[in-house]
Amino acid sequence: MPDTVTVDLADVRARARAAFVGLAVGDALGAPVEFMTAAEIRAKHRVHREMTGGGWLHLRPGCFTDDTEMSRCIARAVDAAGGFDLRGIADALSAWMRGRPVDVGSTVRKGLRSYILDGQLETPPNEWDAGNGAAMRTLPVALLALGDEALLDRCQVAQAHLTHNHPFSDAACATLGRMAQLAVLGLSMVRLRREADLLVERFPAFRFEPYRGLATGYVVDTLQTVLHHLFTTRSFEDCLVATVNQGGDADTTGAIAGAVAGAYYGLDGIPRRWLRRMDTAALAELERLAVRLVDLSPLARAR
Ligand SMILES: [Mg+2]
Repeated sequence: MPDTVTVDLADVRARARAAFVGLAVGDALGAPVEFMTAAEIRAKHRVHREMTGGGWLHLRPGCFTDDTEMSRCIARAVDAAGGFDLRGIADALSAWMRGRPVDVGSTVRKGLRSYILDGQLETPPNEWDAGNGAAMRTLPVALLALGDEALLDRCQVAQAHLTHNHPFSDAACATLGRMAQLAVLGLSMVRLRREADLLVERFPAFRFEPYRGLATGYVVDTLQTVLHHLFTTRSFEDCLVATVNQGGDADTTGAIAGAVAGAYYGLDGIPRRWLRRMDTAALAELERLAVRLVDLSPLARAR
């Protein structure tokens, strides 16, 4: 982490807003091609690069899904509590699930059901928990824990274990949280790359070079897809287009890439034609929450 004295808080807030908006934009861009193969997307769109809506969920153009909704739940719960509150987060996610959202992953559903029925805040280790459900909602905690690595690790694992308890999911959450933080702090792609390399060093399964081209609900494939495209493109648009055109769990790879690339390239890097298709009030709330999370973080409180 850079010396906190050198950090410009106004820039951090702006990048945090871009991260949350980028997450929602990536989710909305990818959702219409979720579960399609790259070849099917090519046959239908040549390149999918507009907010078309549609897909298996029959979405309106610009409509986002569970990836953004769960992240928003966590951010709202933290906002309401004025800090990390695992029970508040579990309540918010449970209320969301009860509201019959457009999509809920099966592992998320199982974990939240255990909380609703038994008050269980940590799901036991499970070899089937290496899905994307926890990794897709890492951004709020990354923002809240800016300036304190131990806090980041503790809170990220806690939020993840509400529904997913697997070493690969934990590792993905930790890496994505750190990468989002580094990007929000305005650090270089080389520095972000070092974080990805550390993940591969610890868990060789995540190796993303050469890229295997898999983008499934498995968190290892998801990270490979996001990391490969993040490090081989030079703009938010190119990164997101390349990522979601891989198909598979495209809303989630889009959301995860969108958060990191949003923070890195900033709000000006997000195509206006995409933003125009999104719900203005929803984006305004995400931006407000992003700033609130930064202001609750140790980085801001140390001022
Ligand atoms: Mg989704």
